[in-house]
Amino acid sequence: MSHPHPELGAPPELPTDGLRVIALGGLGEIGRNMTVFEHAGKLLVVDCGVLFPEDHQPGVDLILPDFAPIRDRLDDIVAIVLTHGHEDHIGGVPYLLRERGNIPLVGSKLTLALVDSKLREHRLKDAPKYVVAEDETLSMEPFDLEFVAVNHSIPDALAVAIRTAAGLVIHTGDFKMDQLPLDGRITDLRAFARLGEEGVDLFLTDSTNADVPGFTTTERDISPVLDRVFAQSQQRIITACFASHVHRVQQILDAAVKHGRKVAYIGRSMIRNMQIARDLGYLHVPDGVIVDGRKISDYRPEELVLVSTGSQGEPMAALSRIAANSHDSVRIEPGDTVVLASSLIPGNENAVYRVIDGLIRLGARVVHKGNALVHVSGHASAGELLYCYNIVKPSNVMPVHGEMRHLHANAALARATGVEADRVVIAEDGFVVDLVDGRAKVTGKVDCGYVYVDGSSVGDITESELKDRRILGEEGFISVIVVIDSSTGKLVSGPEIQARGFAEDDSVFQAIVPQIEQALANAVADGAYDAHQLQQVIRRTVGRWVSGAHRRRPMIVPIVLEA
Ligand SMILES: [Zn+2]
Ligand SMILES: [Zn+2]
Repeated sequence: MSHPHPELGAPPELPTDGLRVIALGGLGEIGRNMTVFEHAGKLLVVDCGVLFPEDHQPGVDLILPDFAPIRDRLDDIVAIVLTHGHEDHIGGVPYLLRERGNIPLVGSKLTLALVDSKLREHRLKDAPKYVVAEDETLSMEPFDLEFVAVNHSIPDALAVAIRTAAGLVIHTGDFKMDQLPLDGRITDLRAFARLGEEGVDLFLTDSTNADVPGFTTTERDISPVLDRVFAQSQQRIITACFASHVHRVQQILDAAVKHGRKVAYIGRSMIRNMQIARDLGYLHVPDGVIVDGRKISDYRPEELVLVSTGSQGEPMAALSRIAANSHDSVRIEPGDTVVLASSLIPGNENAVYRVIDGLIRLGARVVHKGNALVHVSGHASAGELLYCYNIVKPSNVMPVHGEMRHLHANAALARATGVEADRVVIAEDGFVVDLVDGRAKVTGKVDCGYVYVDGSSVGDITESELKDRRILGEEGFISVIVVIDSSTGKLVSGPEIQARGFAEDDSVFQAIVPQIEQALANAVADGAYDAHQLQQVIRRTVGRWVSGAHRRRPMIVPIVLEA
């Protein structure tokens, strides 16, 4: 196994017949997937997604891959291949196209349709689009591409095989091996086997569920559970799932039809995506089933199923507002049923349980993955990955799409099937992996960080500003204002103390006033006159007192004015 070394430096020059692979996101995190392949002076990008921020990144809307390492080579990019339409794979595309608007986009029909609606919002229309399907090939010199059907939690996902003079590479994208998917489109193991016969030099595989033993349950198993829940419900049913999970919505629609209910979509992205999926033939909706979400009051509760966004507790999404009883048109009545047909993404637990609690308080019965089989994962578990390794028999493996534990678990599976340990490359974002003479190795590292999107600004927030926001949110804020005599340094007025998010009553700060006065007097006696030095004295004095007396570390802002 190639161990990451902190001393990794700039990579050596890439030999002409070599292939270089650099992930600018997606290794060490589940999100903002982006892998750059370099060969013969040209670049091919596979996926360009976003990562959604967690509680400790307040005020951040999105996190992007870091484009810095390729910023001066944008003209060398021959195409962006998009494996499927999930946000962690396509969400960053508009931001990359803002830097060069005419990069060709390659993807399946549904994937590109979902990207298109995003590009329209960003008013980007210059990118040429290449719609591809499984079993098709496309040459983007010097990269010859071949596409392979894979099954995932969104229809029309593709793996991509990349042929260059350096050898044959397969990038699986996100996939699982559901043998009975709703659309009958299984992961094409026969194609994997054929490519394996040809000789796969490097296999980049989805690691998300590599530490989950066994096999991922088939999506179909959810149907009978929904059927039971619907049969037991006497009043309104509200369901929530990802706005891109066409097959999950299909099963909800089927259950609704079976139980004689109409369906209304709630939430902008749900309405938009399901319209796209229906128009393109991925979602099958009998006529007369869908009703306008604004007209739900025309129906009795037992006549309706609502399909809503917000399954991850996103505060602005429909379900959170329903749970807070602040939605414009949907009110929970005691006896209503809410089904969260979704995963619980780590980091979202508090938000999701807040929503569940809110719904229960309003009298709803809440069915979720914790108490019923209303969700299955979209990713291959360890058993499926083992099958893949045995079928493909790759010479080198690079686990992708996962946090460290997932990448390592996936690497262990590759080794268990006989891939030589030093040909299983565990890389992190920014690591340079070179495939030369049939051997993949980490050869260096480029700088690669997080890029935060805050409203319309991209990359303007720094780590230290984020830390400030975190402290403000969690630990509060104390300002201390003093006025000093500019010639003697003696206190003229203050200290005046104000605090936010700290104590109910500012009078607790009276205890610290004499200490500040004393500390300032001592500092002046020691020859400190300058406002900056005195501010440091105040900061230290107040900091020591709050951490000692209150066990808190608020942001302290001392202001020294000279009179
Ligand atoms: Zn996905
Ligand atoms: Zn993904």
